[in-house]
Amino acid sequence: MPEGDLKAVTEKYSAHAPKPLNTQFPDRRGKEEAVQLHAGRKKRMATELYPPAEEQENLLASCQSSSVSSSGGQTKKRKTPTCSKCGKLVKGHHRENNVLICPSSTSQETD
Ligand SMILES: [Zn+2]
Repeated sequence: MPEGDLKAVTEKYSAHAPKPLNTQFPDRRGKEEAVQLHAGRKKRMATELYPPAEEQENLLASCQSSSVSSSGGQTKKRKTPTCSKCGKLVKGHHRENNVLICPSSTSQETD
């Protein structure tokens, strides 16, 4: 096919080709405007943090400060030791030969 014919055919058929679909929306937003609106939409739909970011920062700060202060190896928030026999706090117990004596059953003798 000669080059001239090719051009003629292309013009002939491109005249029949429909215009791009976006020309059907005359009130279509410009790219920059659309990008801004998209950003705003994303911002608005952002999932709220739980706990809120402010609280999280406070928690983080408190965690860091406590970990710095207790960097000697001992953690401050240690689980309170409980008696394995009665399940109560060891605090009320006294020991004999490294054995906890339950205050409720002081009559028992463990020798
Ligand atoms: Zn006990």
